[in-house]
Order: sequence, then C-alpha cells, then structure tokens
Amino acid sequence: MNSAFKGLIFGTAGIPLSTSPASTLHALDRLKELGLSCLEVELVRGFRFSRETAMAIRRRAEELGIILSAHAPYSINFLSAEPGKRLSSQEQLLSSARLAELCGIRNLVFHGGFYGTNPPDKALEILSETLKNIISILRSEKNRVILRLETMGKKSQFGTLEEILSLCQEIEELQPCLDFSHLYAREGELNGYQQFSRVLNKVAKKLGEDVLHDLHLHISGIEFGEKGEIKHLNLKEADLRWEEWIMALHDRGVAGRVICESPSLEADALCLQNLYLAYKEKSKKFF
Ligand SMILES: [Zn+2]
Repeated sequence: MNSAFKGLIFGTAGIPLSTSPASTLHALDRLKELGLSCLEVELVRGFRFSRETAMAIRRRAEELGIILSAHAPYSINFLSAEPGKRLSSQEQLLSSARLAELCGIRNLVFHGGFYGTNPPDKALEILSETLKNIISILRSEKNRVILRLETMGKKSQFGTLEEILSLCQEIEELQPCLDFSHLYAREGELNGYQQFSRVLNKVAKKLGEDVLHDLHLHISGIEFGEKGEIKHLNLKEADLRWEEWIMALHDRGVAGRVICESPSLEADALCLQNLYLAYKEKSKKFF
C-alpha cells in the first residue's frame, strides 16, 4: 500500500527545525528536500487545524509521498482520579482521531496516563474498558485511524512493554507504539542488539509476526535516573546503542515508521536513515 511495508522509513516528531516558515504544510516540503519520508504531526498541545488546512496537508502529503502519523495531546490521562479529567481525555483522543482522519493520517499515538493511586492491574482494567469504548465510537463513525498506545519512560506512567502488549492482545484493533528510548529509560538494561531483538521477538510472539511488518517506532538519545526518563538527548550525546538498534530492526525484517524525537530532529533522523540504508546494502552483498 505504501513504502512503510517495504522496510523502514524515517521522519521527525513534529516540524523539522530547518523548516521556514515553521508550519506543518511547509514541513512536508522540507522533509521531501531532506530525503525523509514521514512526519508525526504533533497535536500535543491542543493544536487544532481548520478543515481547509487539514485537507491541504492531506493533499500535499499525498503529492509528496510523505506518510503522516499524529501524536495526541500529552494532557490525556485516562487514569486520573478526577472523573472530569478522564472524560476530557476521552474527548481529546476522539477529537484527535477525527482530525487525523481528516488529514488522511492512519496512525495516532497516545499515552495511557499516570497510575496515580491505581495499582497496575487496576490501571490496565480502566484502560481496557476506556479504549474499547473509544474504538467502538470511532468505528461507528467510520473512522479508520489506528490507535497506538505508547511504551512510556517514567515509572509513574502506565506503559511497560508487558502492559502495552497485554492491552493490544486483548483489544484487537489497538496497536503498540514502541518507544525504545522509553523502554531503556524505564528498564535500565534494554540496550544492545540482543536486548532489542528480544523485545521484537516478544512483540511477534504476543501479537503475531505481521505486527513487525507495520511497526510504529519512536527513538532518541535519552537521559534517565531512578524514576525513569529525565529528558531526550541527541543520539551522539547519549549511550543508547542506536547502531545496534538499527541492525536488530533490519535483521528481524521490521517494516514501518521510525520517528526521531531527538532535540536535533531531522539531523538524527537522517543519521539513522543513512545507517539503515548502508547496512541494508551491505547485508544484500553479504548474502
Ligand atoms: Zn509520546
């Protein structure tokens, strides 16, 4: 259907820094100039497009062959103790999905929320019920956007690999967004070819091999402490073994979108893409 199924494609979380003027529409042209292929549109701070802008983004992305995904607002917290906040979280995810559909966006990433006083199994139960309702509403509206629940980097946030996979296993239409930097920040040891491969094998075992052929991935350098993630870093300033990560993805035959969340955005996205293409070429010759 699109290039995402032929291997990995690379892009940025939000508008590339070198886009001028800094708008989503101009970002599409800038990504094309840079040789990148996807963009995660950040709907994170309640930013809203007009219908006309959404249609223009959709058309331009199609013309240029840029694959769009989106990230729902950070304020979403389905686990809040306040019923009003839980309700507004549902509304925010629904309205993001409606806007995504209008822009021709297929994948929408979101966070589950903070455990607060909920034990992890209770949090899982709340999210399961909430997401089933949201997906049912979207499907009744003929909205085809795929909701992608992200693995999170802070220990106070819902989203260990096991939690995300278990919910995706339970809810057929829910898919994961695998943020490997978050997994590393949270679990401390998930860094290296073997460890990355183990994660991919676990995903395939729980959700089926096909899931690896349409994965949605987040990556950046990361600083972390006892409580998990502190902040994102550029790849070369951090100790995440991103070269081995690219090799593990390639060797496992993973296809999909790699969204770079480093502060340097496009510079690191290009660095990852160059490494992937060179490694792909080298592997071809070798076999
Ligand atoms: Zn996120």
